[in-house]
Amino acid sequence: MMGIDLERADRGFADDLRIVPTGTARGLSQLVLRTDVAGMPLEWIDYREAARLYYQEQVAYTCGSALYELYGGVNALTGRRTMLEINSIVATVGHTGNPGNTRHDYVPPLNNQTLFRRDAFLCMYCGLRFPSRELSRDHIRPFSQGGLDVWTNVVTACRRCNNQKASRTPEQAKMQLIAVPFTPTYAEYIFLKGRRVLADQMQYLLAHFPRSSPLHDRIQRWLS
Ligand SMILES: [Zn+2]
Repeated sequence: MMGIDLERADRGFADDLRIVPTGTARGLSQLVLRTDVAGMPLEWIDYREAARLYYQEQVAYTCGSALYELYGGVNALTGRRTMLEINSIVATVGHTGNPGNTRHDYVPPLNNQTLFRRDAFLCMYCGLRFPSRELSRDHIRPFSQGGLDVWTNVVTACRRCNNQKASRTPEQAKMQLIAVPFTPTYAEYIFLKGRRVLADQMQYLLAHFPRSSPLHDRIQRWLS
């Protein structure tokens, strides 16, 4: 199991180490989806964390495609170079350390990046798609009228619609929401947080979304 020094690899010491991204990986930045042993999505980890889990024998099984091949030293007995293949999805044993997969009342933290992704970069008033920099967080019931900063009271809005609505409710502003805001489940949140989600990782996460999740439809639109 020895023969690979990942910290040295981190710092760019080539020596007898080679890190070879395969197939779908773009450089070394592609993240691996970690799940618990039951297959519940937990978090995104980089190739170093994934390699540690493999070497600590915490990987129960893998799914998806091979992302990286890590080459270590030459085994003195066999004369063969050790090689570790890292997959896009790894199921791990032991403590999960994550509240989301066991608690049904888990509420993921709210931030604009995941909010805009939840709404597929669509303004929830005019229905048009915008880049992040042109979007804003609209409080459906405004702060000034007792509205809270929670998932079910916020939507993505373009600047124009947000300005037009101002400190009013949609009814008061005579503006209509095109979709009902929702609190993402843990699996949905993991998806929304992904930096670059591969097709197989996405399929996997989609299977863990509630059947009624608006994301099924939005992802289809997103991809089209
Ligand atoms: Zn708009």
